[in-house]
Amino acid sequence: MDLTNKVAIVTGSGRGIGKTIALKLAGAGANIVINDIGDPASAESVAEEIRAMKRESLVALGDVSSSADVTKLVETAAATFGKVDILVNNAGITRDRLLIRMTDEDWDKVIAINLRSVFLCTRAVLKYMTRQRWGRIISMASVVGIAGNAGQANYAASKAGIIGFTKSIAKEVGSRGITVNAIAPGFIETQMTQSLDEAWKEEIRKRIPLGFLGAPQDVAEAVAFLASEEARYITGHVLNVDGGMTGL
Ligand code: NAP
Repeated sequence: MDLTNKVAIVTGSGRGIGKTIALKLAGAGANIVINDIGDPASAESVAEEIRAMKRESLVALGDVSSSADVTKLVETAAATFGKVDILVNNAGITRDRLLIRMTDEDWDKVIAINLRSVFLCTRAVLKYMTRQRWGRIISMASVVGIAGNAGQANYAASKAGIIGFTKSIAKEVGSRGITVNAIAPGFIETQMTQSLDEAWKEEIRKRIPLGFLGAPQDVAEAVAFLASEEARYITGHVLNVDGGMTGL
């Protein structure tokens, strides 16, 4: 998969799955815009790793749920590199609680960061992608958006929303050579899943036909494929990267 000279924005790429995606796309030849909200040092260190690979990398910090921040992010990327070819909507959070105890803030924050962000970032990059008649938009959904999960109604709604959004936009922009897909990871070992206790992880393992939790690299490989020319005939698709979990 050759992404030489492509320009990719990866949201939430200072750590976790986003960082691994950024490094994978850079390894395939792309120049990368790193976005994150919190720690500038970790975002800068990912950019340094990419520069060491002889690719260009720009850090554009900002909150992907803010319209002003997203406009700035995408315009800075386009001004620096002259175009935007690939958008990976990866940034996401959880605020888990049974619905009866879920606050308005738990709901609004998760919907804003996980779903509104996908709308804002996608709308902003389409301006450039439609002009060049080529683009790849890949958003991080979740198996929870397909199957549901007790204690995660806000998160599941946001991820199911991404799936509906993806299928709709694929229909809107297909004639412009832009593909729009989602990935539904199962349990991937990152900071997001670190807090789960070992007994619960063992329970999860039992529900995974392949018998192990995934790694960020498993997701990054799928993203690189969907971003490539080889995936030109795949759009509006949700690719499960879950060890077979949702088939059960
Ligand atoms: P993670 O380790 O918690 O990393 C999330 C990243 O998003 C962090 O870099 C974080 O920045 C950034 N972020 C959070 N809020 C943001 C905002 N408002 N604007 C910009 N960046 C923001 O999560 P992960 O496990 O890598 O998950 C990545 C994506 O995969 C998420 O969408 C998640 O829902 C999805 N996913 C994960 C799993 C899993 O098992 N891990 C399964 C299914 C789906 P800071 O470091 O500054 O907080």
